[in-house]
Amino acid sequence: MERFAVLQLSGCAGCEVSLLNADAWVDRFDLVYMPLVASVHDVPEVDILLISGGVRTDEDLYKLRRAVKRAQQVVAVGTCAISGGVANLGDRDDVRELFLTQAQRHHVPRLLPKTHPVDTYVDIDLYLPGCPPTSELFMAVLDEDADFKASKIVCQECGRKKVRDMRPRHLLGFQQGEVLPDICLVNQGYLCVGTSTRGGCRAPCPRAGHPCVGCRGPSDVFIEKQSEAWFTSIKRVFKGMTDIPDEEIDAALRSPQLALFLFQFSDYSGEERAPRPKEKVL
Ligand code: SF4
Ligand code: SF4
Ligand code: SF4
Repeated sequence: MERFAVLQLSGCAGCEVSLLNADAWVDRFDLVYMPLVASVHDVPEVDILLISGGVRTDEDLYKLRRAVKRAQQVVAVGTCAISGGVANLGDRDDVRELFLTQAQRHHVPRLLPKTHPVDTYVDIDLYLPGCPPTSELFMAVLDEDADFKASKIVCQECGRKKVRDMRPRHLLGFQQGEVLPDICLVNQGYLCVGTSTRGGCRAPCPRAGHPCVGCRGPSDVFIEKQSEAWFTSIKRVFKGMTDIPDEEIDAALRSPQLALFLFQFSDYSGEERAPRPKEKVL
């Protein structure tokens, strides 16, 4: 029976919950370490190490470097591990100040100057983007399921139809107003970025009437490019399907709802980062 561990760095534990929602692994894999549910002091030797969360503290970094030495295969799962995600929000000055004050009082791990993706420090065999990745995607990793193929983009999994006779003039926001069934959310004035977002999640958000915010990251076409290419593509889609002014789209693309994801594969820390090869991204 293959042994796997889940190393939880700085994140929200949503990735772990998504993994626990997939019960297909329970009889076939041996989960030997995952602080959320398995209280073991340290990561033992494993076949697969899943890493969730970004590297935010000195403790994260210490654990990360130790754990990868004991794994045959290392997989970065979720936005936080791949690009910082919610942990990255702690880079804001006011949050850092608050945390540092508390850290002195409670002897919690020391903050590193910035959040970093795990591949800043260790080699990664496979990336599994999503916030969180769905249970099915977790199973595709554990099973090394050769049959699983993520669709190129979320639109292919969404089922909503793009129509010619609905051209909104303004954005409606993210989740307000009545959403018509079956019709593409862009046609209805919602900022859905499914056209440029990697598929594989089965489009739960647009199917339920919520715009895709791009948590699976850029599709293969954009994955090895800077995020500006992603922006340009999304803007082109809105130009073709709506009469919404460019400035409005521009401002919305930089809104907090999308900020965690649209910069997912770009270098948010200002340093040069080699593009992640698309062959390594599920
Ligand atoms: S990727 Fe999303 S779900 Fe996973 S730990 Fe980070 S914030 Fe939570
Ligand atoms: S843009 Fe959004 S709503 Fe429209 S088809 Fe694509 S995923 Fe579905
Ligand atoms: S539809 Fe978009 S936001 Fe929703 S899970 Fe898929 S990639 Fe993430």
